[in-house]
Amino acid sequence: MTKDYYQILEANKDDDDKTLKKKYRQLSKKYHPDVNPDNPEAEEKFKEVAKAYEVLSDKEKRRNYDMFGSETNGGNPFNGGNANMDDIINSFFNNNQRRQRVRKGSDIRITIKMSMEEVFNGVHKKIKYKRNENCVSCNATGGKTKICNVCNGKGHINHIQNTPIGRVQNTIQCHNCGGRGTIIMEACKMCNGKSTIIKEEMLEFDVPIGIEDGENLIVRGKGNSIPNGINGDLYVQIVEVPHNTFKRSGLDIHQRITLPYKNLVLGDSTEVNTLDGKIRIKIKAGTEVGHILRVSKKGLRRENRVGDMMIEVWLEIPKEINDEEKSKIESLKN
Ligand SMILES: [Zn+2]
Ligand SMILES: [Zn+2]
Repeated sequence: MTKDYYQILEANKDDDDKTLKKKYRQLSKKYHPDVNPDNPEAEEKFKEVAKAYEVLSDKEKRRNYDMFGSETNGGNPFNGGNANMDDIINSFFNNNQRRQRVRKGSDIRITIKMSMEEVFNGVHKKIKYKRNENCVSCNATGGKTKICNVCNGKGHINHIQNTPIGRVQNTIQCHNCGGRGTIIMEACKMCNGKSTIIKEEMLEFDVPIGIEDGENLIVRGKGNSIPNGINGDLYVQIVEVPHNTFKRSGLDIHQRITLPYKNLVLGDSTEVNTLDGKIRIKIKAGTEVGHILRVSKKGLRRENRVGDMMIEVWLEIPKEINDEEKSKIESLKN
């Protein structure tokens, strides 16, 4: 099993950002390659600590880690890691090896719909999606292969370009093998030489309360696989379905109610809906049309914050009235 990021940082799940930073600093000092030359154990620790902090110091990543943590499919969805971070970490170490960019599979983007009630209460979602996974039958080689004779198996070639400032040499992907370093001689029957197969994945998770339209939940390493590389990521985007009566603005909720003329003039109390059930509110005598009543803490919640319910009072105009009512209204004029 993969080690827990909190354990690695010797931290607790409810530690705040400051505490995490302090613990990260202490540990990265302790295991820094400058202090521990030629110590593979310390190197390993240093990398672990950097990775753990990279995730936990990022609000969105930490939330995702807390959510998907180690429960998902029995594995750690963050195994894929982050290519850029790997580059940064590896740059600390002189392995006498040419540093090569890590190849990363493409990301997958899916959307899930949520009602305002689900945003308010939180919801457990189960999603199915398809991703490319490295073929196990051919070990993601695509079949029987031979070394590419253009790049000699390196996957990239040096490209020399004559420019006004002189000859510039850069490395480009090999056109002959598409960067794989090998050419397929006999295609694998399982993946037809593609090296990857399409797999249906199932993911279960709790969507955090108060999430907003357009936000992404990111699951590291659950995107597409790529031969000789790390997996892409999965982006689950939230699409909030508009509510029939409530309008959302941040954590506040707006709604409009209509009341008869008499109730606005003389004052009244009336029941209104909230996401948490009905509440009774007081209408003051002489309330004007368009007046907004704010009911504290009856909006949406998110972490420690709670929004309000804003109720706009509107006038109910009867479409049909009888003679008696008509004469009563007439009498108001005088
Ligand atoms: Zn295959
Ligand atoms: Zn090649």
